[in-house]
Amino acid sequence: MPYNPQNIFAKILRGEIPCHKVYEDDHVLAFHDIHPQAKIHILVIPKGAYVDMTDFSKNASEREIAALFRAVAKIAKDHDLESSGYRILSNQGVNGGQEVPHLHIHLFGGQSLGPMLARSQSPF
Ligand code: 5GP
Repeated sequence: MPYNPQNIFAKILRGEIPCHKVYEDDHVLAFHDIHPQAKIHILVIPKGAYVDMTDFSKNASEREIAALFRAVAKIAKDHDLESSGYRILSNQGVNGGQEVPHLHIHLFGGQSLGPMLARSQSPF
């Protein structure tokens, strides 16, 4: 799927739509999810135009890849999540339920997060 520069996160990156920013560096922006699904629900995105993890892993530089994962860990630390624990998740494509076609990592924390997938969705 080619990158669509009209996606909502591209608009946030261009400053056309506001966000509640929690972190920014040369390669990464992080902000609160507009519909939080946990006490802490932050979206961490690369500034580069990458659709998903497949695109990012193939086409991003080593520096961009390191920056994204270092940012996730730093944001978790800054929100006191290291000892209490947290979850990161990235949806891709139809089966992943990805809604916004710009790579993003969800960071959840601040509470017990329950099973990895909703029990009702598990075929096992
Ligand atoms: P996905 O389903 O693609 O993994 O997750 C997209 C996430 O983006 C959802 O959790 C949704 O609430 C969030 N989201 C969608 N539009 C906006 C927006 O305009 N601002 C912010 N901060 N989050 C958004």
